[in-house]
Amino acid sequence: SRELEGRVAIVTGGASGMGLAAAHALARRGATIAVFDLAAPDPGELASTLAVAADRVRSVAVDVTDGDQVHRAFASLLAERSRLDILVNAAGIAPPTAFEDISEAEWNRVLAVNVHGTFLCCQQGLPAMRGGRWGRIVNFSSTAGKTISTAGGAHYTTAKHGVLGLTRHLAKVYGPDGVTVNAVCPGLIDTPMARALLPEEALERATRSFPVPRVGRPWEVAELVAFLASDRAAYITGAAIDINGGDLIV
Ligand code: NAD
Repeated sequence: SRELEGRVAIVTGGASGMGLAAAHALARRGATIAVFDLAAPDPGELASTLAVAADRVRSVAVDVTDGDQVHRAFASLLAERSRLDILVNAAGIAPPTAFEDISEAEWNRVLAVNVHGTFLCCQQGLPAMRGGRWGRIVNFSSTAGKTISTAGGAHYTTAKHGVLGLTRHLAKVYGPDGVTVNAVCPGLIDTPMARALLPEEALERATRSFPVPRVGRPWEVAELVAFLASDRAAYITGAAIDINGGDLIV
């Protein structure tokens, strides 16, 4: 259905993987989409990938770790659309470095993209949501936000645990304003990130023992994101929802 008609959404990390799938799921339900990613996808190609008219998508080059860039990107989108309803924070990196080999720069970068970027975007987006008395934030944590990481390093585990803390804090503060803030905790999902960490055969081997014995698909996570972004999920906030084929129960 077109349940998100009239809604304006920002998806960070929306050029690839689950961010792109989320952008697609939101667009299909009628939202206009702004993709914020390091390298902005070609707007025409993005519109055709999302199967919407060009005036319903924006493609913006933003490094979410850079406060000035984030500020400018939000300000220009808000000037154009005059509202913001949905923010999906999917930008993330997960280098698989062993603990003793993590440089201070890499530690800082992983925390910066996954946690600081989420902080900056939430801070820029919340006033408009609050002003409209309606908002949906969906942050990307991970199985690594609840237990140790299957693939990323200690910095990634630390960062994804941090995303859950931020999510719960904001859920509590902004609930009375009609804004829900939730996290999704995907397991192994078949995206460019997962492919870079594990070759196809390793992905297959890692997921074979799951109750649902296969790798997850980006669209499956996107369906959850779209539900959390809808009116139907108004009573869900501060949640950290597993989507992992049952990995954590076995
Ligand atoms: P992906 O690599 O396919 O997509 C991530 C996107 O984030 C890329 O387009 C990248 O350019 C963008 N990005 C990275 N750094 C950025 C920055 N500084 N500023 C703006 N954009 C930036 O990865 P994915 O697997 O789709 O991951 C999406 C989210 O899901 C991430 O937060 C990731 O940590 C999380 N996650 C992934 C898995 C998995 O198995 N793939 C599992 C759990 C959680």
